[in-house]
Amino acid sequence: MTDTKKSRHYESSLPMVSRRNFVKSGVLGGVAAYLAACDTNTQEEFFAKRFTELTPEALKERIAWLEKHYEKTYGEAFKVGTEGPIPDVLFGYALDLSRCVGCRRCAYACVSENNLSRDPQVHYIRVLEQPKGTGLDLHLANPYYERDHVPEEGHVYLPVACQQCENSPCERVCPVGATWKEPDGVIVVDYDWCIGCRYCMASCPYGARKFNWGAPKMTTGDSLAVKVLSAKPKGEGRFEVIVEEALDAPERLQPPHIMPTVVKRPFLDAKGNRFMTETLPVADTNPAARSTTRYRFEVVAKEAPATSSKDDEYGYFLDAVNPDTHYLGNRPRKKGVVEKCHFCLQRTRNGEYPACAEICPVGSRKFGNLLDPDSEIRYVLANKRVFVLKEELNTRPKFFYFFGV
Ligand code: SF4
Ligand code: SF4
Repeated sequence: MTDTKKSRHYESSLPMVSRRNFVKSGVLGGVAAYLAACDTNTQEEFFAKRFTELTPEALKERIAWLEKHYEKTYGEAFKVGTEGPIPDVLFGYALDLSRCVGCRRCAYACVSENNLSRDPQVHYIRVLEQPKGTGLDLHLANPYYERDHVPEEGHVYLPVACQQCENSPCERVCPVGATWKEPDGVIVVDYDWCIGCRYCMASCPYGARKFNWGAPKMTTGDSLAVKVLSAKPKGEGRFEVIVEEALDAPERLQPPHIMPTVVKRPFLDAKGNRFMTETLPVADTNPAARSTTRYRFEVVAKEAPATSSKDDEYGYFLDAVNPDTHYLGNRPRKKGVVEKCHFCLQRTRNGEYPACAEICPVGSRKFGNLLDPDSEIRYVLANKRVFVLKEELNTRPKFFYFFGV
């Protein structure tokens, strides 16, 4: 049975099978009995309506329930935003392959920003390493490379995530309408509506969708050592802090190590004082020593963080959940559902760059509004040698690759 009701929030052209009717049809026979044995949280999640069907009152109630549930589960206050698409904006991404050094900072910034599972590991961005001169055949690429230093001589790197296809096979195959394209071009997933059948994964030619085989574990309990180089007052209760990632520190974590990239992360200085970072740091790579990376960011604190006066004095970024979330973006997922890159909706619909674009130490990532003729991404499309992956499939990606130099 189909339901062609229009979205309350946005226009949705999806014919939609009601999940309850899907259940009634017997495909999920036994689920009702199973749910009867489940706790109230599981039942609340299962019977939540599809996002686009919620009335304003029901949405308010749903958000309140989610925020309370997440606070109880993760021990801190969460915000679940519902910001809609910005009028006259169609998001697009372009990646400069001549700059990418394969450092995977984008992939780990994404893990941290988007509350991806650390165990089992889920990554939206795979960085593929390939010997130079072998073309860009994805089947020849190695996503599991481990190098002491990057870039490895004679190799090129190709980061791949969801291509936000205009003609997206994934949304067409979903039997329950749990995934759809928003007016700003982002393909989203309603994690409450997904039944975990994984048809979308099978249909995606880019391997962009990930399945939560286990309950996502959102922190490792680890920290990343950094040297605090300077801390300048920036107005009441704020300090601009420059830190250097201490790559040679014994505490250096192996992947998936956390990156000092994410808004509102707890931070301890050398004296053990606890601070809260507030803005995402701007990458400031020290070109003379590629193995160290400096970050500038603001912290909210009563007093300035202690600077490291000796080589062995470190501050620490703690691995923590990101409580700034979006309903269709980085809010915590659960076992048995599919997820994927959503262009950091919680950031980009509020005028910020995606975490991966912000962290890239060599500036290979460009993000912007494809409808704005003055945007950087339009400049790239008009002036560089641009291509998309698997063009022959007519998926019409809004993720472009180019060679800037
Ligand atoms: S890359 Fe895959 S998941 Fe992303 S829109 Fe295209 S088909 Fe869907
Ligand atoms: S896994 Fe979820 S999103 Fe993918 S097809 Fe199934 S229901 Fe739809």
